[in-house]
Amino acid sequence: MYLSLVATYDVIIIGGGLAGLTAAIHLRKEHHSILLLEKETYPHHKVCGEYLSNEVVPYLGYLGIELPTNIDINTLEFSTRKGRSLQISLPLGAKGISRYTLDNCLYKRAVSLGVDYVCCSAESIDFKDDLFTVRNNLDQEFKATFVIGGFGKRSNLDKTLRREFISKKSPWLAVKAHYQWNQFPDNLVGLHSFEGGYGGLSKTETGTVNFCYLVTYKSFQEKQNISVFNDLVVAQNPYLATFLREASMEFEKPLSIAQISFEAKDPVEDHIIMCGDSAGLIHPLSGNGMAMAIHSAKIASELIHEYFIKGRTDRIELEKTYALQWQRTFGKRIRTGRRLQKLLMSPVIAEMLFSLAVLSPGILRSIIKKTHGKPIEV
Ligand SMILES: Cc1cc2nc3c(=O)[nH]c(=O)nc-3n(C[C@H](O)[C@H](O)[C@H](O)COP(=O)(O)OP(=O)(O)OC[C@H]3O[C@@H](n4cnc5c(N)ncnc54)[C@H](O)[C@@H]3O)c2cc1C
Repeated sequence: MYLSLVATYDVIIIGGGLAGLTAAIHLRKEHHSILLLEKETYPHHKVCGEYLSNEVVPYLGYLGIELPTNIDINTLEFSTRKGRSLQISLPLGAKGISRYTLDNCLYKRAVSLGVDYVCCSAESIDFKDDLFTVRNNLDQEFKATFVIGGFGKRSNLDKTLRREFISKKSPWLAVKAHYQWNQFPDNLVGLHSFEGGYGGLSKTETGTVNFCYLVTYKSFQEKQNISVFNDLVVAQNPYLATFLREASMEFEKPLSIAQISFEAKDPVEDHIIMCGDSAGLIHPLSGNGMAMAIHSAKIASELIHEYFIKGRTDRIELEKTYALQWQRTFGKRIRTGRRLQKLLMSPVIAEMLFSLAVLSPGILRSIIKKTHGKPIEV
């Protein structure tokens, strides 16, 4: 027997990461009734490079979010497995901010605006007679005109919805922790390759250095645990060897996630408007996933708001428009990220690209531009 808390919301948002929280704030600012379902309590750490592209900063300002960080990143340092390194200035730059702080900041803003929040896992979503019914693990049932899927790269709901990517094994896993390392400059983001993967280094608002890496199972599985893998593989890159030797980890143990899939997904599934990683994940080396999550939530929120104020026009038309705008805005970035990742995973090609970038840093800058958007206008 399910207990229905509120008869009908305008929008139920499943997943309170950056996409879900952004949509919650945007739509609540427009006075719609919003229910947010998130399975974790706030604040919490997440596996992420914590490099937030400046393209979303004006829009976050519009949502009433002042980012609590003084870390302004404007330079990329890149190194190959052999330790050849170069620095280039970034076209747009970024803020260094932990997900612990960023997500919590958006969560507080959402709740202060009157977004209803239930800490629970959404278990099923049904669409019938133009209305959604969502059930959770607390035996509660909620109804809404729209459901936004902001449940990230991999969720129980992907299985429930029988999404194609979930049945395929993914070769990627990721590891992250915060470290004390005084000599790391505030304005730098590092991207350092090693066998089977690459790691990003950048400062967070607390002054700690976030080290987050992505690696294939194939490379990782022979070593079995993170500490041995760091010593034997990650530290083959001389820059990372110095970092691991000199820095002290702040976490009790690193966080890790497995089965990270970069397969294509549909931005609309069973009438659910997917935002952020639920709609598609860009390779992390681009440092653009968070901006895309926030931007996709803006696109979805504007269309849903328009639907309500225009007096319930065509739902199918809204879904088509969202899917089209999603592809136009993010399709090229995702494809460029995929190609770039492939090239960098080959040691020979990575060394060749490096030599090219030394001769002409403009090439690297223009590739970076292709994986990012322009600052979002508000
Ligand atoms: C290794 C790595 C490094 C990265 N580094 C960067 C970087 O430096 N810069 C950058 O811009 N991007 C980076 N990204 C990408 C970025 O982390 C994501 O694109 C971003 O977090 C997407 O936000 P989201 O809201 O879509 O998903 P998430 O932030 O993952 O949020 C999804 C939420 O849904 C919740 N959820 C899931 N299922 C349910 C359910 N059934 N019921 C209720 N809640 C549910 C989860 O608990 C979670 O809180 C990186 C990604 C990886 C893998």
